[in-house]
Amino acid sequence: MLEGQCFCGIVKYRYHGEIEKTIICYCKDCQMAQGSIFGWNSPLQKSKFEISSGIKFLKEYFHSPNKVRVFCQECASPIYSYRVDLPEIIRLRLGTVTSGKLPAPTEQAYSQYKPSFLKICI
Ligand SMILES: [Zn+2]
Ligand SMILES: [Zn+2]
Repeated sequence: MLEGQCFCGIVKYRYHGEIEKTIICYCKDCQMAQGSIFGWNSPLQKSKFEISSGIKFLKEYFHSPNKVRVFCQECASPIYSYRVDLPEIIRLRLGTVTSGKLPAPTEQAYSQYKPSFLKICI
C-alpha cells in the first residue's frame, strides 16, 4: 500500500496496490504544471485509489477537453491527472507520496525538452 498527501496536508490518499512503473516526463505541459524540470508520474488503477480526507478540496482543471489535472485548491499541489476517455487510469504525481515503495523510473518521455545539465541514468 501507498500513502500520500498534498503540501498542506488537507488532501490525503491511499493506493491499495503496488506501484510497478514510474515515468519521468519532460513535456512542456508537465514542466509548466509542476513548475519544475519534469513530472514524475505513475499510471495507477483508479479503482484502488482512495481519497481518505479532503476530497472537497480537490479541484479539476481541464487543460483540454480530454485531459484533467487534479490539485489541492488550498495549497495547489498537483495530485493526479486523467484522461476523460480513459477514466479508470490515473497518473499519480509521485512527489506527493509519503510512504510506500516507489521504483526508480524506467522511462523518460519528451526527452527533447530535458535540460542539458540534467544527468539521469535510466
Ligand atoms: Zn493542500
Ligand atoms: Zn508530460
